[in-house]
Amino acid sequence: MDLKEFRSVGHELVDWMSAYLENIETMPVMSQVKPGEIKNALPENPPQEGEKFSALMSDFNRIIIPGISHWQHPSFFAYFPANSSPVSVLAEMLTATLGVQAMVWQTSPAATELEEVVVKWLVRMLDLPDCFSGVIQDTASTATLCSLLSARERASRLAINEKGFTGSERFTCYCSREAHSSVEKAVKIAGIGRSNLRKIEIDRQMAMLPAELEKAIIADKTKGCRPLWITATLGTTGSTAFDPLPEIADICGRHNIWLHVDAALAGTALLLPEMRKLAAGLDKVDSFVFNPHKWMFTNFDCSVYLVRDVAALVRTFEIMPEYLKTTVDSRVNNYRDWGIQLGRRFRALKLWFVIRHYGVNGLRRIIRNHITMAEHLAGRISADPDFALLAPAPMNTICFRFQPSEISNDRILDEINQEIMNEVNGSGQIYLTHTRLHDKFALRLVVGQTNVEWRHLEAAWELLRQSACRKKIDLRFAGYFK
Ligand code: PLP
Repeated sequence: MDLKEFRSVGHELVDWMSAYLENIETMPVMSQVKPGEIKNALPENPPQEGEKFSALMSDFNRIIIPGISHWQHPSFFAYFPANSSPVSVLAEMLTATLGVQAMVWQTSPAATELEEVVVKWLVRMLDLPDCFSGVIQDTASTATLCSLLSARERASRLAINEKGFTGSERFTCYCSREAHSSVEKAVKIAGIGRSNLRKIEIDRQMAMLPAELEKAIIADKTKGCRPLWITATLGTTGSTAFDPLPEIADICGRHNIWLHVDAALAGTALLLPEMRKLAAGLDKVDSFVFNPHKWMFTNFDCSVYLVRDVAALVRTFEIMPEYLKTTVDSRVNNYRDWGIQLGRRFRALKLWFVIRHYGVNGLRRIIRNHITMAEHLAGRISADPDFALLAPAPMNTICFRFQPSEISNDRILDEINQEIMNEVNGSGQIYLTHTRLHDKFALRLVVGQTNVEWRHLEAAWELLRQSACRKKIDLRFAGYFK
């Protein structure tokens, strides 16, 4: 493709992107294709000769788009969002055009220094302890693994990096039963062993019970294990529960354990002064991760990892092959040593664009509006005698189920709610997912789309109620109740 054609199809592509976002509400939120359908529409072998860009776009529209679940649709209420914004997409286009590989300062000084500045801005925006330094990584899963590896190396004085686990102590790790699966994955990858991860019991609010945590730590110490690392979650994936950080931090202090905080979604809520009470105790943690790619209008991927002890992080990962040495190494950050991979995308650019475009107050307005809308919907749900909230909704995530007083059998309620979810998702009008809370199937609706408005939530609620109403009629006919 020559640059003349690049310019021309580039303009067309931006038109396509604008039209896509304009018309997104006409498309089914969750892709309605069957397994294998997309693969079967694609040729088995690659083309021998190059094809025209128009042919690529035509197949993109014909084959790929039907297999897309529209994450930017305002009625996407599933999982946690991966929201975006036009300004972030434009920055991503610039990033792709520059094609920068930001592994060391010299490979693009602006990429490194902008990253330092933007991360510091975020520390201030979220009112986090000023002693934190940070790095932008791909995902929270990577950051959590980095945290565990740093804790491991600090505890072993780099012996495991040097010699492997030979003769090492038996480490144990801790998180609540509601912690994200990335914690368990990190424990597996870091060589700690899944059987050495203790999943601590939770209270009715789904938050970790600190007394149970300390009991588990003491039991492990008695057995000769070395408690190493705890993940506390601010905003669990299931129901956005907040683990009690001040108590957990005290326990970590008493037993000399690394405290990592996973605030993948909820970190963004700390933009709001009124939400900061949920994050008391952050001044005592060792590391913290949150994902602007979830709720801060910055397209995937963009995860911010903050640490108190940068030296522990860098010593864990540093390597110094001859071909990567530069004359300024002693005076700059080489972010290649702040994480796992060598090559790094220039992610700071999109964050910079997003923060400048919205301003802190602009970001706050949208986040506050999401939380207020979620509160209203939770109010509607709890006021409906046929529905029940299954967990507190302190932020933007509502967990609930259809639970008419006539049915008390949990297995039947699980099945009915699964059917309701399949039906509303199959309609293409909304997309929501589920979890299990206290062993009950819970519908989970997350309000976090960049352009979601109250009308989308009202429509979702009406759809759910209609589906539930049909289920009630079916059950009456089937003789479950009169
Ligand atoms: N932590 C929590 C609380 C999450 O909800 C998620 C994903 O939803 C993750 C970690 C993993 O995030 P990532 O996809 O960035 O690894």
